[in-house]
Amino acid sequence: MTTPVILWLRQDLRLADQPALVAAAGEGRVVPVYILDDETPGDRRMGAASRWWLHHSLAALSEAFAEHGVRLILRGGRASAELAKLAAELGTNRVHALRHYEPWWKTAESEVALTLDLQLHDGNFLGPPDRVRTATGGRYRIFTPWWTALKQQMPPAKPLAIPDLHPDAPPRHPDESRDPWDPQVSRSRDHRIVDPGVRRDDEIWSDSLADWNLLPTNPDWATGFSNWTPGEAGARAALRDFLPAIPRYDHDRNYPAIPGTSRLSPHLHFGEISPATVWWQCAAHARAAAEPYLRQIGWRDFANNVIDMFPDYGDHNGRAAFDAFPWHDDEPGFVAWTQGRTGYPLVDAGMRELWSTGWMHNRVRMIAASFLVKHLLVDWRRGERWFWDTLVDADYAANAQNWQWTAGSGIDSAPFYRIMAPLAQADKFEAAAYIRRWVPEVDTSAYPEPLIGHRAARERALDAFRTINASS
Ligand SMILES: Cc1cc2nc3c(=O)[nH]c(=O)nc-3n(C[C@H](O)[C@H](O)[C@H](O)COP(=O)(O)OP(=O)(O)OC[C@H]3O[C@@H](n4cnc5c(N)ncnc54)[C@H](O)[C@@H]3O)c2cc1C
Repeated sequence: MTTPVILWLRQDLRLADQPALVAAAGEGRVVPVYILDDETPGDRRMGAASRWWLHHSLAALSEAFAEHGVRLILRGGRASAELAKLAAELGTNRVHALRHYEPWWKTAESEVALTLDLQLHDGNFLGPPDRVRTATGGRYRIFTPWWTALKQQMPPAKPLAIPDLHPDAPPRHPDESRDPWDPQVSRSRDHRIVDPGVRRDDEIWSDSLADWNLLPTNPDWATGFSNWTPGEAGARAALRDFLPAIPRYDHDRNYPAIPGTSRLSPHLHFGEISPATVWWQCAAHARAAAEPYLRQIGWRDFANNVIDMFPDYGDHNGRAAFDAFPWHDDEPGFVAWTQGRTGYPLVDAGMRELWSTGWMHNRVRMIAASFLVKHLLVDWRRGERWFWDTLVDADYAANAQNWQWTAGSGIDSAPFYRIMAPLAQADKFEAAAYIRRWVPEVDTSAYPEPLIGHRAARERALDAFRTINASS
């Protein structure tokens, strides 16, 4: 039996293009572990919709590892403590993991490194966000120059194949591909005989996924989530389905009634597919036409650059002047917004889509967020927290960065005085069919009056903005 090596999985729930897995497999017998850590993140522990996704993603990952004769271990508790315990049980101190930029993951990484030999690898971004630097070695605070600099480091390394996870197995036939994009691979897997001897870690305790109660019951609010297929295979299928739409993406992505975007965000958040894989598949299928799409993937990297510089970005304004902004404590307005009852059809459609499916179209996210902050003058942090709990793609970096961008409080923001008009936006982006789908009562007397008129809201917002010193 070869030396056990721990693979610590977090938001990287995949086997393909997983540098930490490749490194671990190169050293010994891989023992993958996922730790449900609600302690280190504190009040940033995973929200309810993300937990739904996590359940299904872990079930898929566990099956994928099992196909390779490897058992995924599940543990609950503080990541550093649980890893230390597992390492002691296995008689190893070697841990491989991908690097993450959320502040609580940085804390966990430092804690783990105190007692174990933690090897961190890059691989969840197009490039390591902290290594995209200006000519003088500084950090970028604005997206466009960042993207230009990141592109100079592209293309990313070619995606890594799934390594051999059964070190005692006879050498594999050279023709047997591990590339998951190769149609041969599933066939070769079907014929693989799993040696019962590989279940050597059976004596190691693993929690049962069902006991983690990640799925909602009573009420089961996730019945509308059925269109998602969490897991690595689902991620690949979503990308495959989207590839033919890339040439139209730059236009279609703004129209909520058109399924013009990839819907890869929860897959990317949970690391079920690597951005490098997305890059190479897009380059192969769409070449230059892929640029507008890859630019959006670049925003994901940029958001991680921002939280790497400002770890508390989810809770603190990027521009200090906004600390004095006179937010309104409008509880009825906030509740109406969460329930999709503001009287603005496009805002309400978006908020209902979010509640029903765990996702909202990007343009509608901008409009709904802008409405909360600028029409209702509710602090962006309340909206950010609502999204954190209800999005299946809830991502600390992307959520904070986009909320601050929309609110005008961020380091790289739309100016506050650009106030989106929800009715005009609905016309401009031909949202009628989308609205009818989510707000069927829109043309009836059952639909509420607007909480506030657009013109009055705009004046009120600009008055509030004038009270702060927006130059700081
Ligand atoms: C207020 C607000 C909050 C948001 N919160 C999140 C969040 O918690 N998690 C999240 O992943 N995205 C968030 N976004 C960004 C964006 O809305 C989603 O990434 C996108 O709608 C996901 O759908 P898609 O996968 O079809 O995107 P596509 O248009 O197909 O884009 C491809 C990928 O690029 C990335 N991406 C696209 N746009 C952005 C962006 N503006 N910022 C960062 N990454 C981007 C995502 O990973 C996305 O999957 C937020 C946007 C707003 C305005």
